[in-house]
Amino acid sequence: MRPRSEEPRSKECLVASPELSVIIPVHNESANIAPLCGRLLPVLNRITARWEVIFVDDGSRDDTMDRIRSLSQGEPRIGAVSFSRNFGKEVAIAAGLDHARGDAVVIMDADLQHPPEMIETFVERWKEGYLMVYGQRTDRSDETRVKRGFAHLFYRLFARFGEIALPEGAGDFRLIDRKGVEVLRTLGEKARFSKGLYAWIGFRSIGVPFVVEERLHGTTKWSFRKLFRFAFDGIAAFSTVPLRVWTYIGFLISFLSIATAFYFLVRTLLFGTDLPGFPSLIVSVMFFSGIQLMSLGIVGEYVGRIFAEVKRRPLYVVQERLGGAAEVSASLV
Ligand code: UDP
Ligand code: MG
Repeated sequence: MRPRSEEPRSKECLVASPELSVIIPVHNESANIAPLCGRLLPVLNRITARWEVIFVDDGSRDDTMDRIRSLSQGEPRIGAVSFSRNFGKEVAIAAGLDHARGDAVVIMDADLQHPPEMIETFVERWKEGYLMVYGQRTDRSDETRVKRGFAHLFYRLFARFGEIALPEGAGDFRLIDRKGVEVLRTLGEKARFSKGLYAWIGFRSIGVPFVVEERLHGTTKWSFRKLFRFAFDGIAAFSTVPLRVWTYIGFLISFLSIATAFYFLVRTLLFGTDLPGFPSLIVSVMFFSGIQLMSLGIVGEYVGRIFAEVKRRPLYVVQERLGGAAEVSASLV
C-alpha cells in the first residue's frame, strides 16, 4: 500500500488524477447519501488520498442531487453525473465507467448493503495482481423465499444455456482495473446485463465473500417485473438457445404428428373409423397455435433487441455533471 505520509498535495492535484474511483448509482436515495459518505470517505482516506466518488443520479425525483451537490461543494473529490430521466441501474453503471478516471474503479450501491470497509480488501487483492475483485454474497437470507427461488432458477438456467460461467452470488459490488474498465466501455450493448459483461471480459478475477447488510433507508427499487425483465435480458444477451430450441421442438412435434398420422391410418384400415375425430383435431390445432405463438414471441424478443441496437441511440442523456465527472465530459457526447 502507498505510504500515507507522502509529500503534501494540493486539492487540485488530488482531484486531477485519482487512483481509485467509486461509482455509486443512485435513484431516490436522498436519505442514504450522507450516512453512506460518512462511512465511505474514512475508508477511502485510509487507502489513498487520490480517490474520487462519482454518484450517477439515475433520474431521482427527490432531493438526492441537492444533497450530492452540497457535499461536492465542500469536497471536490465527490462528483456526479445526473441523467435527464431514469435509465436504469445498468446504464447508470455504464455512465459511471465512462466518467471514472481512477486506475481502479469500484462499483457499489448507495443503500449501504455493500459494506464500504470491503473496499480495503478489494484494493489489497488488486495490488496482488487481480484485475477484477468481486464481492460474493454468502447468504441470501435477507431476501424473500420466492425471490431466492427465482434467483436460484436463473443461475441454473444461465449455467445450462449461457455462453459464459457466472459466479453465483457475485453482483455489481466489485473492483475493476483500468484495463477491464476500458474493455467494458467498448461494449456498447443497449440491453445491458453487467454481471454477464464482467464475466465475458475475463481477466484474472477473485471473489471476496461478504454479508449483505440491511438496506439503510427506503425500499428496494427493483419490482418483481423489473427483475424478471432483467433475468430475461441476461439470458437473451448471452445465449441464443431460446431462439434455436424451437427448431428441435418443431422437429420433434412434426415427427410425432407423422407417427400419429400413420397410427390412425393403420387403425382405420384395420378396424374402420369409430369416432369422428373432432376432439383430437381441436386439441392438435390448439397445441400447434400455442407452439407457434410461443416461438414467434421468442423470435420477437430477439428482433426487438436487434431493433434497439440498430437505432444506435446513446445509452443515456446527461443533464448535469459535478466535480471530476465534469472534467471528462469534453471527451464524451
Ligand atoms: N438504482 C438505480 N436506478 C434504478 C434502480 C436502482 O440507480 O432504476 C440504484 C439504487 O439507488 C441503489 C442501487 O441501484 O443504489 C441498488 O438498488 P436497490 O438497493 O434498490 O436494489 P437491491 O439491493 O434491492 O437489489
Ligand atoms: Mg439494495
